[in-house]
Amino acid sequence: TELPSDANTENNRRQVSEATHSYVNPRIPSSPKLVHASKEMVNAIGLDDEAIKSNDFLEIFSGSKIYPKTKPYAMAYAGHQFGNWAGQLGDGRAINLFEVEQNNQRWAIQLKGSGETPYSRQGDGLAVLRSSIREYLCSEAMYHLGVPTTRALSLMLSGDDVLRDMLYNGNADYEKGAIVARVAPSFIRFGNFELFAARNDIKNLQKLTDYTIKHFYPELGNPSKDTYIKFFEAVTQRTLDMIIHWQRVGFVHGVMNTDNMSILGLTIDYGPYGWLEDFDFGWTPNTTDKQNKRYRFGNQPNIGLWNLLQLANALYPLVEEAEPFETILNQYQTDFEKQSLDMMRSKLGLQVELEDDAKLIQNFEDCLVLSETDMTIAFRLLASYKKDNPDHGIDIIENAFYKPEEIIKDNLKQWKVWFKAYDQRLQKETITDSERQKNMNAVNPKYVLRNYMAQLAIDKADKGDYGLIDELFKVLKKPYDEQPKHEKWFAKRPEWARYKVGCSM
Ligand code: AMP
Ligand code: MG
Ligand code: MG
Repeated sequence: TELPSDANTENNRRQVSEATHSYVNPRIPSSPKLVHASKEMVNAIGLDDEAIKSNDFLEIFSGSKIYPKTKPYAMAYAGHQFGNWAGQLGDGRAINLFEVEQNNQRWAIQLKGSGETPYSRQGDGLAVLRSSIREYLCSEAMYHLGVPTTRALSLMLSGDDVLRDMLYNGNADYEKGAIVARVAPSFIRFGNFELFAARNDIKNLQKLTDYTIKHFYPELGNPSKDTYIKFFEAVTQRTLDMIIHWQRVGFVHGVMNTDNMSILGLTIDYGPYGWLEDFDFGWTPNTTDKQNKRYRFGNQPNIGLWNLLQLANALYPLVEEAEPFETILNQYQTDFEKQSLDMMRSKLGLQVELEDDAKLIQNFEDCLVLSETDMTIAFRLLASYKKDNPDHGIDIIENAFYKPEEIIKDNLKQWKVWFKAYDQRLQKETITDSERQKNMNAVNPKYVLRNYMAQLAIDKADKGDYGLIDELFKVLKKPYDEQPKHEKWFAKRPEWARYKVGCSM
């Protein structure tokens, strides 16, 4: 394939001004090999299952070959990282291949781990099998949990070795390189807007905003100050909706920097993410954030708001009025309270809205914290509670406790008090026990991608066995279903995984 005349083949690191992106070709992998493909996404972009086995598929989604008449590019963006302005960032290890339109749905496809771009800074633009398996499995799992997310099309080995510092043992080591083809209607982030605002490049700021509205928020109408405000409001609502879903399933993103916030309210960048095991508002999977815990589970809604404030600052030049932004940001807080309460009610199987529900929910959370209780298992087991039996409540969720002996000793009374209140509260509902169970099982997943599960799949894949990737991929497609054959994945984190550090580069 001939390179576009304006392609910068050197990919040298640089500040790229007055541009939304830079043309750059993926690095050619030495011996690409398909590890897994998501049939659903393959079909979504208009290919049939057979295509997966084709050489074209292997070549295009490993970066070996550029699809005719397309010009791969890396996007420029900026961002606030851990609360500080970080300046120009950009796609340092992602390269956009092309977009397809299928059934009125636009899909942008990018390769993650395909080599250097002008935005790679000190990085190598590559990704390792370990982090790629985690991104591949989790993005598809999140979709099936009903959480807005970017998707994954395929996972490939590059055949090249990648040097990585293993944070947990301090040594540098070679690991297998990999490439994930990921897919979303768009990968535009808050940081894309921040870049132009910071450079006072209002022309491109407006262009980008108009483009985003035209293609992804067409219902808002033609560009105007009023439309820009509505746009900010829509992004705010989508962002909040996404974060409420995270809280519902116990997902902790881990790096909610503004360059990792999708303008479409999609979960993006599966780096050091994790799932709550024992319920803990203070938990973060990010080992570089253990001190401040900025991105801890309980802080995600606040950070969402903080990030939206940065977006408001970036969009301000298009509106030149602070008040509309402030109103929307205030509304976020009110909406959060309401939506969070509704979400927690649904997790407890409550349909009627009563004044004291917030208290009942908080007392339940206190109990979960008090006795190191597995969040996923506790909510799932709670669904089988039968009314008029508060003294047996504890027996029902017993399997969710990491240290059952402590319950008996110290916390039994508090649990009994809670179950009594829960039972009284359920008496005010009109639905039957089994209807409640069904409702609860539709919002409380049975299967999530626990860190140790991903780790087992990684360890096997490292030895060339991809069977567990496929098994987990399939189990996680039906996270709310009973899957008796896969009951072993409905289990507490094993002891060996308790202190294991997840490294994510
Ligand atoms: P993250 O914390 O994953 O959102 O990454 C922050 C910035 O660093 C983004 O601009 C990434 O593109 C870039 N980056 C992360 N890893 C690499 C890498 N291995 N090579 C080049 N750039 C990277
Ligand atoms: Mg990122
Ligand atoms: Mg990342």
